[in-house]
Amino acid sequence: DTEVLALIGSKEGIAHLHTAFVDPGDYVLVPAIGYPVYRGGAVLQSAHSYFMPMNEENGFLADFSHVPDEVLERAKIMFIGYPNNPTGAIATPEYFDRAIEFCRSHDILLAHDNAYSEIGFDGYRAPSILERPQAKETCVEFFSMSKMYNMTGWRIGFAVGNAAAIRALGTVKNNLDSGQFNAI
Ligand SMILES: *Cc1c(COP(=O)(O)O)cnc(C)c1O
Repeated sequence: DTEVLALIGSKEGIAHLHTAFVDPGDYVLVPAIGYPVYRGGAVLQSAHSYFMPMNEENGFLADFSHVPDEVLERAKIMFIGYPNNPTGAIATPEYFDRAIEFCRSHDILLAHDNAYSEIGFDGYRAPSILERPQAKETCVEFFSMSKMYNMTGWRIGFAVGNAAAIRALGTVKNNLDSGQFNAI
């Protein structure tokens, strides 16, 4: 009841997460290569984006190990997403653990975009970040029907994870869009 929230597609949930957690002048940590809404949501809140480097050398795993202190002080959300769009990179459990530890120690909400959770090849099955220890203390994860069931136009997604984050996002939605039509 407290850890799941239906969305009108995961895009609005990702954008509205900024409305819930980010004030003007704050920072969001955003992968250098990734879904544009992570940054767009920050722009709409007059917040800054700090781009975490992603390249072939680091396996396209967004590098949060060099974020400057002045950015960290005002960082509210860190976005990552694996299996990754557009690189196709997948995350290791160790990477998820490091991201969770980093966000817990700096009081940052970790938002994992898992839009491609059901799309794996050669036996690979994408994990949920919430499988990792202590993830629920700091993580919210976004899922979407759009890619896995080819239902983009239906606008169905959902967020799961940390109850306080889910409640905050639900409060924003109650005041803005009232949620998806329940019959759908
Ligand atoms: C398509 C996509 C979304 C949003 O999908 P919705 O249709 O809004 O559920 C979110 N993140 C990534 C990485 C995507 O590719």
